[in-house]
Amino acid sequence: MRFEVSKVLDAIEARLTTDPALARAVVDLSEIVRYADLDGGRPASMLRLGLVIDALGRHVAEENVPVYAVVPRGLLSDADLTSNERMVVRRWADDGVVEVVPQLDDRVLEVAELLGLPVLTRTRAERFRDRRPWVEDPGRLLAAVPGAGGPVLVARVGRGEVPAVAEPSPLGQKLLSRVWGCPENCTAYGSGGDPDSPFADMRKTTSPVSQPPPALRAGVPTCPRHGTRLRDAGPRPAVEVLSVRIDGIVRQRFVVSTEKPVVVGRAPEGGGGVMLGQWLTDDARKWISRGHVRFALHSGELSAQDVSTNGTGIRPNGSLDDDQRVTLNRDEIRTLAPDDVVELYANVHVGRAKLWTSGGVSQPHSVMAEAPTMAIRKFER
Ligand SMILES: [Zn+2]
Repeated sequence: MRFEVSKVLDAIEARLTTDPALARAVVDLSEIVRYADLDGGRPASMLRLGLVIDALGRHVAEENVPVYAVVPRGLLSDADLTSNERMVVRRWADDGVVEVVPQLDDRVLEVAELLGLPVLTRTRAERFRDRRPWVEDPGRLLAAVPGAGGPVLVARVGRGEVPAVAEPSPLGQKLLSRVWGCPENCTAYGSGGDPDSPFADMRKTTSPVSQPPPALRAGVPTCPRHGTRLRDAGPRPAVEVLSVRIDGIVRQRFVVSTEKPVVVGRAPEGGGGVMLGQWLTDDARKWISRGHVRFALHSGELSAQDVSTNGTGIRPNGSLDDDQRVTLNRDEIRTLAPDDVVELYANVHVGRAKLWTSGGVSQPHSVMAEAPTMAIRKFER
């Protein structure tokens, strides 16, 4: 059998994040890998994470939707996974694209509560209802079950709409307003750690802007992986989540922080930019510069600066009226009102993520596209 499993796992990896600003749902990876009824295959398979990610993409009708995966440590040595799968999940753990915890307890629910996200689970979380009464609220628990065109998400209660932009709980907002430091050699909270630690230079760490939410143990912010008390390392930079929307389809979200402006264009140089080239028509590709417009956040104000050859349009409050369209010429900067839409070319737009409640695509690109097995193929239609 010639599985292109590694390609699929790479595609899945690109959809994993513990960034509170980007995650759209939370999963327990050890639960998802055992959904044998989704493909009729082995007792455990990492590819099922891809099926569930695809189901979420279809559910919200959006491309490139990321999930926050919590991994109980036991899964890293689970004999039901292939050795390759175990190796991959260990690498994800080391790179901080998933969150490893010694015991699951109710960490998945805690993350969902703090970030205001749905949980993709088949459980009803009965054990935790006293502590987390919201699990009975409509749409907070979504179960992936087999469907005609691949797995579908079914709400345990209510209709199960996923919010376009999750609102963290008040406690979540408080925790996310600070940078946290773990005394261990820690991927998630290392960059807020002790600079004199022997690990300080070795750390492969999450940026302070995208640190995952701490766990709370008896009200004390704690590292979910190491169980150690976290140090408050100061205020966290503010962030704004923006979406790229091309021909009515949300292609990608990205985060602008006070520490990190972001250039959007055909193929921005220097890394960290948002590359549109793969989604553009030939005409749009000719018009849009490699680096076209630069987004920055200062004192709560989001601004756009034209850095292109042909100029950048602003549509105030998303107005479709061309008379209202404002053109920024090279190096001009404009502060963006909440509903302003930046136009790089006709129907190539960037705006705050909450502007667009639907992703606008009925069949988002599948992370399983590289899997040539019959068992998986049958879900691709
Ligand atoms: Zn830690």
